[in-house]
Amino acid sequence: MSLRSDLVEACHKVYAKGFVSAYDGNLSVRTNRKTILITPSGKCKGEISEKDLLEIDYKGMLLKGTGKISTESKLHLLAYQKREDINSVIHCHPVHATALATAGEGMTNPVFPEVILSLGPVHLCKYVTPSTGQLANSILPYIKFAWALLLENHGAVTFGKNIKEAYFRMEKLEHAAHTLIMTRIIGKEKIISSNKLKQLYSIAEKVYGIRANKKNI
Ligand SMILES: [Zn+2]
Repeated sequence: MSLRSDLVEACHKVYAKGFVSAYDGNLSVRTNRKTILITPSGKCKGEISEKDLLEIDYKGMLLKGTGKISTESKLHLLAYQKREDINSVIHCHPVHATALATAGEGMTNPVFPEVILSLGPVHLCKYVTPSTGQLANSILPYIKFAWALLLENHGAVTFGKNIKEAYFRMEKLEHAAHTLIMTRIIGKEKIISSNKLKQLYSIAEKVYGIRANKKNI
């Protein structure tokens, strides 16, 4: 499997899962040439093929490919510039996660133990006007530590060490948002207490080697 085919497969998955509609969203991976492979603007992710992918440099200049570079590519570039541990970025508009973001809510409360361990706190980034290239600025306060973020009145973005990780974070984020909304239909979510959280992190550290990060508590 090549990076290109992995990227195309993830595009088809986010479309099949309904995380994007029509031409929405953008996905990218960092190559070992220190360039970025990214989806072009104005293409349905369900129909994308390897030849549609663009290769750009860290300044967003087109190196290979013929499509149009999305203004949202700046969000991807910022993540790669700020974090060496990020090698893939996925931006989608999943219904339930976007519903929370549209209601002005992040997912920072500790509700689901597994979500805490794989996503950490999911902050809400302030609304910016689409196509102005300002999206990158909105994630700036959280990019140093975040693995998943909600974008106010817009959608969600996840990061990973590889595209599989970024994809599963998007899937997990949407599943958690859906579960949270369902919980609120029948009652109110219970927040995990700080004592139980500490216990969770000590188990995670022993079993999975995950280090408790203060920002995650
Ligand atoms: Zn978007």
